[in-house]
Amino acid sequence: MTATSNNIHTTFEKQMHIVHITAELTPIAKVGGLGDVVAGLSAQHQNMGQHVDIILPKYDCLLYDQIDDLTQLKTYLHVPWDHGLVPCAVWTGQVHGLSCIFIDPQSDLGFYQRQAVYGQFDDIQRFAFLSRAAIEYLWHSNNHPDIIHCHDWPSALAPVFLFEIYQTLGMTKPRVCFTIHNFKHQGLAGRDLLETTGLHRQDYFSKVDSLLDLNNPNALNLTKGGIVFSNFVTTVSPRHAIEVMDEDQGFGLEPVLKTHRAKVNGILNGVDYDFFNPATDAALAEPYSADTVEIKHANKEALRQRFSLEQNHKPLVAFIGRLDPQKGLDLIEHALMTTVKENGQFILLGSSHDPAINQHFKSLAQQFVNSADVHLEVGFDEPLSRQIYAGSDFMVVPSQFEPCGLTQLIAMRYGSVPIVRATGGLADTVFDIDYSDKPKPERNGFVFEDFNETGLDSALHRALICYQQQPEQYQRLVQNAMCSDYSWAKPAQEYLTIYESIRSNF
Ligand code: ADP
Repeated sequence: MTATSNNIHTTFEKQMHIVHITAELTPIAKVGGLGDVVAGLSAQHQNMGQHVDIILPKYDCLLYDQIDDLTQLKTYLHVPWDHGLVPCAVWTGQVHGLSCIFIDPQSDLGFYQRQAVYGQFDDIQRFAFLSRAAIEYLWHSNNHPDIIHCHDWPSALAPVFLFEIYQTLGMTKPRVCFTIHNFKHQGLAGRDLLETTGLHRQDYFSKVDSLLDLNNPNALNLTKGGIVFSNFVTTVSPRHAIEVMDEDQGFGLEPVLKTHRAKVNGILNGVDYDFFNPATDAALAEPYSADTVEIKHANKEALRQRFSLEQNHKPLVAFIGRLDPQKGLDLIEHALMTTVKENGQFILLGSSHDPAINQHFKSLAQQFVNSADVHLEVGFDEPLSRQIYAGSDFMVVPSQFEPCGLTQLIAMRYGSVPIVRATGGLADTVFDIDYSDKPKPERNGFVFEDFNETGLDSALHRALICYQQQPEQYQRLVQNAMCSDYSWAKPAQEYLTIYESIRSNF
């Protein structure tokens, strides 16, 4: 994540001050795509001349060796909480050139002292606190930003605090953009949260057109609050914006999204092309680019060597991702079996928050422990992921739903041809070699429609045959994939247009 190269001049004359409030940030607190998005978008905006700050918790599990100039501010913040005040140390630091502000509450609650980002019994409180502390910090900073950009339910209450408490105190300048990366996780809370956070006004907030969950009359829905109270709402691909409003993929939020349709839009995620760059990636056995793609093979050999796989002429198919049912767990297993049956090799890198799922894949790994063609790595290993992107020939992404998906985008950057299901951002970014209506140079992968084994096989089979029997065609696909531009340049410009419109229209 470098925020120093590729200076691109924005078409907007005035610099904006943009503040992200986030639970994740790559690489210091990476869980999934959200952390990549905050880092990549911020770096791009900074390179375009914008002023960007990122507010996140000072987790004990941050990768501290990747934070420069970590410094505690002299004054403490006193955050209203549970009818009292929680003193908070505030730290500043730089993460790969990005300016970060870390919230460090000094209380027995130990919100960010759990050696984990998520998965705690009090996650709702931990992140409601983040939102309140972040807005409190901005209020006291006397440097009110133009834009506050919130991400998923952990920072969805920030616009509620801003517009319902701090605006009346005089913080009238900021406008809020809320990006929903995954509708499956919405942040449901008991009504007590209104008292804990100091929002109070039970009758006002527990209404259908406010925070009340539509399926549980006793619950508050934080994501819904983010939609209602923000000035603009984005999903992470245009296709997913349609799916969540009109195709029942909003996990119950469809009516709310339809009501607010005028301020909802889909902006495709980008990939940080400085960080994910096969030409400069220090994790690779041998760097390469689209012009020197024959060198990619050295990375395949190194990967096979690392996992004691046979060096042969077989295509290497990979899966990288969270082992979540959303990702099509049965289909991933099926892809492995089909690949082996059709004379290919398969590598998986994945992990789950659910111990039972991890155990299942560890058992599967045991079955292939002496295999010359299969390796399963159950765990989270960022540098290894880049070695797999570089060493594989294909990346399979058989998701049931996929708001955007970064794995197929990173795979293309590294010349690993994606095999994906036509859903969400996968459908917006991967165009089938045989069936797409795009011009041939824009066709960059294999796509299937039906979320079942037959559907997957229809694409995987064509991919393996292409590699084995049409090497020139396969190499053209690699070139097309590597030349597809999924950098942040375009989406960052689109976000600036949104920021500018909400600054002038509200
Ligand atoms: P999601 O946000 O649903 O997890 P995305 O495809 O948007 O999925 O982003 C996943 C990101 O996390 C990618 O950068 C991918 O390389 C990375 N990733 C996922 N699982 C692992 C893992 N086990 N080890 C290393 N990186 C991983």
